[in-house]
Amino acid sequence: MMPVPTHLIDCVVPLESGLDQASLKAAVRCSCSSVQFRLLFPGQAQEHEGRQIPSTAKIGGQFFFLLKAHCTGCGRKNLLFDADFHGWNGFVCHEPEMAARTRPPLVPWACQSCGGLHHTGIVTISTEGREDFVAEAGDEFDPERWPDGFGWFALDVTCVQCGVMTKDLVSYETM
Ligand SMILES: [Zn+2]
Ligand SMILES: [Zn+2]
Repeated sequence: MMPVPTHLIDCVVPLESGLDQASLKAAVRCSCSSVQFRLLFPGQAQEHEGRQIPSTAKIGGQFFFLLKAHCTGCGRKNLLFDADFHGWNGFVCHEPEMAARTRPPLVPWACQSCGGLHHTGIVTISTEGREDFVAEAGDEFDPERWPDGFGWFALDVTCVQCGVMTKDLVSYETM
């Protein structure tokens, strides 16, 4: 599997079931070792294949997409993804004006089956690989940062209360 992107190093643990060299599957786990969290998002959802999923939020004519895992063990808020900072568009094509905007307030995602707020999660990251990053990102980027130029972020969550697993609750293309 590929290395963990920089911003996730403290809050995910790679799973043994390896994918290819350009992808990563990892469990969300806080540095306090708790794996349970409230999934914080900007509060706007959309219907996808008959169910609700978090969507890009349009707030005051501006667009945001970010997710935090609010640890139920220690209260730390681990930033899982922010489209203005992470992945190809957020990291390689970083726009300082977009990144400087005040982040919107976040609310906890509720399980669509039981309303429960506590989840465990598995992150899947997909890239085009190191060579592609070196060729496409440009000389100003350290080749070792290639995992940060990922093209896809996905999150599966499992509700702690009822056990329902939602695959691809988040599936976000970053380029
Ligand atoms: Zn914690
Ligand atoms: Zn539930």
